[in-house]
Amino acid sequence: MTTAAPLIVWFRNDLRLVDNPSLTHAADSGQPVIALYILDGTPGVRRLGAASRWWLDRSLASLADDVAATLGGRLILRRGPALEVLEALVAQTGAKGVCWNRLYDGGSIARDTAIKSALTAAGVTCQSFNAALLNEPWAVTKADGGDFRVFTPYWRAASAAVGGANPLPRPAAVTWFGGDLASDDRAAWRLHPSAPDWSGGFGDWRPGEDGARGRLDAFLSSEAAGYASRRDFPAQPATSRLSPHLHFGEVGPRQVFAAAARAALTDPAIGADVETFEKELGWREFNHHVLFHRPDLATRNFRVAFDAFPWRDDRAALEAWKRGQTGYPIVDAGMRQLWTTGWMHNRVRMIVASFLTKHLLIDWREGEAWFWDTLVDADIANNAANWQWVAGSGADAAPYFRIFNPVLQGAKYDPHGDYVRRWVPELARLPNAWIHEPWNADAETRRSAGVRLGASYPAPIVDHAVARDRALTAYRALGGPLPYG
Ligand code: FAD
Repeated sequence: MTTAAPLIVWFRNDLRLVDNPSLTHAADSGQPVIALYILDGTPGVRRLGAASRWWLDRSLASLADDVAATLGGRLILRRGPALEVLEALVAQTGAKGVCWNRLYDGGSIARDTAIKSALTAAGVTCQSFNAALLNEPWAVTKADGGDFRVFTPYWRAASAAVGGANPLPRPAAVTWFGGDLASDDRAAWRLHPSAPDWSGGFGDWRPGEDGARGRLDAFLSSEAAGYASRRDFPAQPATSRLSPHLHFGEVGPRQVFAAAARAALTDPAIGADVETFEKELGWREFNHHVLFHRPDLATRNFRVAFDAFPWRDDRAALEAWKRGQTGYPIVDAGMRQLWTTGWMHNRVRMIVASFLTKHLLIDWREGEAWFWDTLVDADIANNAANWQWVAGSGADAAPYFRIFNPVLQGAKYDPHGDYVRRWVPELARLPNAWIHEPWNADAETRRSAGVRLGASYPAPIVDHAVARDRALTAYRALGGPLPYG
């Protein structure tokens, strides 16, 4: 019988058993372990959006099953400000240690720092580990020791440092704390939407470690071949759809890299595809690097010159964008895919973000907030960095004057209109030539396709040429060129 004090493993965005250094540390310690998840209410930590709550609900169910079935333990659920929850559990169990895997957004860092100092002062040891990144934000620096603001040199330095990262196996056994601990009822957390339940279109997702492993295997064995050339075409199932699994830590980047390298060794023909895929994961790393050095990335322009940008306050246009009613088919298809499934293809995310910030001149923070609420992969680093990238205010951003023409983007990346037909069914019978610009089809073509502009489908809410000129005028008013600041 063990007399050692218990050790609390605090799960956060690391909802897995394999390659989980905090869990492995606890298992190796031989101390009795308490597995804990906290639905945190610490002020300053960003609350989860609705789609993320849906995902979390299922991911926790999956983790609880895995802890029970493979390790014979029990996942304890508690709700409240994390420090209060931990202090109560320490008082109740006599735990002498807490361990977790690190997060990199400002709110989480501030919370974790406060928790570490309060618990340490109370004689409880806190240890933290890296589960979420190949390289932690401070591990890759420029020659002068500063942080990177441009992706290419960042990734050159960071990818060279990746080599030796071997994922940890699932612990073979864990000694569990034997006391009787109360756990919240997950259903009482009401993470699943009700009144109305809008999650009917989320059915293809399989949150949890098993689902993540299945997605990774399926991607590498079939979709990876051709990824480099097909990844920009939203009608094709060509990308991994691993983003929510990575965000919640149901799989970690070390595992993804190791599996991808194995796949490329087995089938050298997919070498270039795997390299492109790894580079996308590199953007995820870069965005975390940027967020760590700019904790206010989700609320402040990376380039301060953008603070003077004359954003418009146009509630009706914002609402039309959110609902997929702008009259631009590729934009509306993307926004409806997002609302229905909790996910949107990357190319289309760029198009809809460009449309909001440039055609409608609406502040990128409005788009960031909507994505935060509706994406199952909503992630502070990736969401904020990408919104700022598209808006032109970010690190290594697309220049503001690069304004996507939604008609040309649609024609290029959805040439047969399959994506639009799927998500904007009221346009399905239009011929390919007009699927991305129904207002230019002649009246007879529209009539025979059952399209009544302004009735069955909106007329464009802005004219592309007019909106483009307006955006360029607003940009010039900033006085360009825009230094970082
Ligand atoms: P794949 O093409 O299979 O890529 C593999 C992985 O690489 C992804 O799962 C993701 O983790 C990472 N990745 C790919 N592209 C990017 C990128 N541009 N930036 C950072 N990481 C990338 N991604 C999120 O995970 N969460 C977000 O909240 C998010 N918000 C975005 C907002 C906007 C405006 C834009 C333009 C992009 C956003 N992205 C976000 C990035 C990207 O669109 C998604 O990661 C990608 O579409 C997920 O699909 P996938 O897993 O099939 O990607």
